Amino acid sequence: MANVRLEEIKRRFNNVTAIEDITFEIPDGEFWVLVGPSGCGKSTILRTIAGLETATSGKLFIGDRLVNNIPARQRDVAMVFQNYALYPHMSVAQNIGFGLQMRKIDRKIIQERVVNVARSLSVDHLLDRKPKQLSGGQQQRVALGRAIAREPQVFLLDEPLSNLDAQLRDETRAELKQLHQKLGITTIYVTHDQVEAMTLADKIVVLNRGRIQQIGDPQTVYASPANQMVASFLGSPPMNILPAIYQNNGFDVSGQLLTVSAVIKEKLQSRQGHSFDLGIRPEHIFINEPPSHQLETLRERVDVSVSVSERDASRREERQEGNESQLIVEVKMVEPLGRETLIRAALPGSAVVLNIQVSGDVRPRPGDRLSLQLDLNQLFVFDPKTGDRIL
Ligand code: ATP
Repeated sequence: MANVRLEEIKRRFNNVTAIEDITFEIPDGEFWVLVGPSGCGKSTILRTIAGLETATSGKLFIGDRLVNNIPARQRDVAMVFQNYALYPHMSVAQNIGFGLQMRKIDRKIIQERVVNVARSLSVDHLLDRKPKQLSGGQQQRVALGRAIAREPQVFLLDEPLSNLDAQLRDETRAELKQLHQKLGITTIYVTHDQVEAMTLADKIVVLNRGRIQQIGDPQTVYASPANQMVASFLGSPPMNILPAIYQNNGFDVSGQLLTVSAVIKEKLQSRQGHSFDLGIRPEHIFINEPPSHQLETLRERVDVSVSVSERDASRREERQEGNESQLIVEVKMVEPLGRETLIRAALPGSAVVLNIQVSGDVRPRPGDRLSLQLDLNQLFVFDPKTGDRIL
C-alpha cells in the first residue's frame, strides 16, 4: 500500500492539452474518485499513474518513489478497465493467477491466493470456466480478482461497472466498497456516474476540461460546491440554475422579484443591475399550497393536513416574512417516483424550467400554477461569466 502524489501533472497530445496543473495527494489506503463529464481528462490521469501515458511535465510519486520514468510493470499498480480484457483461452483460475504467474511466484501460493480471492468475490464455483461461459458481472469480478490477487500497492479502476446492468451495478458497487474496507488498498476510481462517486469515495476530485474544479469529501462537495460546474454536475435531478438580475434589493427572476436575506443584500449592495445565476437544489424548493384539486383529499388525512409533507410544513413555519422567497410557476410535467414526485415547472413567460422534488402525496397536473417557497439558506449565487460561486 502507498500514498500517491501528483505535482502539477500536465499531458499534451500534439496541440490538445488533456490535463493541466493536476496536483493532489492521496493518503495511503484511501478511496478517491475522479469524476467529471466525458473528455475532462479522468482516464488520462489514471493512465498516467498506471504508466500507460507519460506526463508531459510534472512529478508523480507512488509512496516515496518518483515514478515518472519507471515502466508500468514496475510501478506495482493494478488497473481494471471497463472492458474486462480477460484472456479468452484461459480459465477463471488462470486469469486470476496470471499476474502472479508472470512474476514466477510458487504454484502452490498462486493456487491458494486464487481460491481466496475467488471466494471473496463469490466466483470460487466458476474457477474452471472460460470467460465466455460467464455473465458480464461475473467477468468483471474475475477482472477485479486478477487485480486483487497481485496485491498491488495501488488499485486503478476505470469505469469498472459501466458495462453491468443497473441491479448488478448496485450489487458490485457495494461489494467493491466492502472489499476496500477489508483490504485497505489505496484506490483511484474513474467514473462519470455521480452515484458511484458519492457512495464510494473518501474524497471526490471533480474535473472539467482537464483541470481540477474541487476536491473534497462527497457531502462537502455536494453541499458546498466551488462553482456552477460542480454544483450542476453532482446531484440528480441537478441543481436548478435561474438567471437573475439583482435590483431593488432582490433578484429579478424573469419578472418575479425574489427578496433576499440581509446577508445577501449587504454583499450585493454595490452590484445593483448586475446579472447572476442563482442555484437551488430541487429538494430545497417547497410548494406553498398543494394544487387546488388535491386540497380536499389531503385535508382529510390527519398526517398530511394541508401541508404537502412534514418537511414542507416545518419549513413554512420557519418562514417569517410572508411571500419573500416565493416564485409562481406553471407545471409542465409530473413524474411520480413513489416516495417522491418530481415536478418540472416553468416560470411563466420564460424558458427557465425548474426541477422540484416533493412528497409522493403531491400530484399536480400539467397546467397547474404553483406558488413555490425557496429555502434561501440553500441558495447559491454564481457569476454567470466565470461560473465562480459568489455566495
Ligand atoms: P471519457 O469519460 O469519455 O472516457 P475522460 O474524462 O476519461 O473521458 P480522457 O480520455 O482522459 O477523458 O481525454 C481527455 C482529453 O484528451 C480529451 O479531449 C481527449 O480527446 C484527449 N485525448 C485523450 N487521449 C488522446 C490521444 N491519445 N490523442 C489525442 N487526444 C487524446
